[in-house]
Amino acid sequence: MINQIFVEKEIENHHRVKSILERFASLSPIYIDHYGELFNKKNQNFRVQKSFPNLILAKKNDGHVLQAPKNFGIGDAYNFYFSHMYNCLYDCDYCFLQGMYSSADFVLFVNYEKFEDEIIEKIKQLEGRKVTFFSGYDCDSLAFEKISGFVEHFLPIFEKFPNALLELRTKSIQQEPLVFKAPIQNCVIAYSLMPGNIAKQLDRKAPSIEKRIKALEYLAKKGWQIGLRFDPLIYGKDWKVLYSDLFEDIFKRVAKDSIHSVTFGPLRFPKEMFKNLVKLNPESKLLSGPLTIRGTKMTYNAEIELEMINFCENLIKLYVPEALLFTCRGDF
Ligand code: SF4
Repeated sequence: MINQIFVEKEIENHHRVKSILERFASLSPIYIDHYGELFNKKNQNFRVQKSFPNLILAKKNDGHVLQAPKNFGIGDAYNFYFSHMYNCLYDCDYCFLQGMYSSADFVLFVNYEKFEDEIIEKIKQLEGRKVTFFSGYDCDSLAFEKISGFVEHFLPIFEKFPNALLELRTKSIQQEPLVFKAPIQNCVIAYSLMPGNIAKQLDRKAPSIEKRIKALEYLAKKGWQIGLRFDPLIYGKDWKVLYSDLFEDIFKRVAKDSIHSVTFGPLRFPKEMFKNLVKLNPESKLLSGPLTIRGTKMTYNAEIELEMINFCENLIKLYVPEALLFTCRGDF
């Protein structure tokens, strides 16, 4: 899975670096000055690297916690996001990371304590007001857990601040450490979902929808709060039947009171990024679908977008209260 490991010299003695290197004892690390030397190099081939990614262990020096866009949220007035990692084990057709970064290598920022300090500072500045912190914007929050120990580290921190909600966004069925811990009420495990046969074509390398539903069903039974993320909504033949069947399946299996929130997001790409995506995936049916430029974005036309959101919202309202439904049109 990992081709080679690179480590920034400054953190070679960091305890998290040492324990990660122990897991990859067969690889001799290569020491570098700054992750950007590799990661930001021009003319890299994202698609080739995706098959043989390197792992780069680095220290994040700024931008640890960032403001989420205005129309991005799941109920709280204050919303931030943070990225302890760039890139993802999976390879979804619509993933904007491939259009954003020139490299498919994994960058893991090991200085979690600095993220932690910044998160706590934001919480304190808000003096008890409700705030959500989104992880999993530049990666999958759970897929790399066995190597990163990210969730293991951050859950106890959030546990101390009940007014701050942590969203873990994932397609992973990797459930450690959640299965071994008592659930905390200010953490939502948010699964990205779409009809199974669409995911089979688009969510390369990610667990099937059936496996994801099984995983969320299990965590819900253990008492964790679950988020359902239908983002992006994918248009195509029989989409109404496919989404109806998906919702029915989920709510047959998952207790409604374990649902924290449901979000819908239209398929959307920044215009410039879209050009890169098409270059990287010239055969993608999704990217050659009925998309159009609207403002600064490439999306389905407004009619399709509205029809999909309205249809899905009306169906989901049969299962969960309207107050738990959100539409995310925001880009970061
Ligand atoms: S799971 Fe998310 S971050 Fe990972 S490749 Fe798919 S869209 Fe990108």
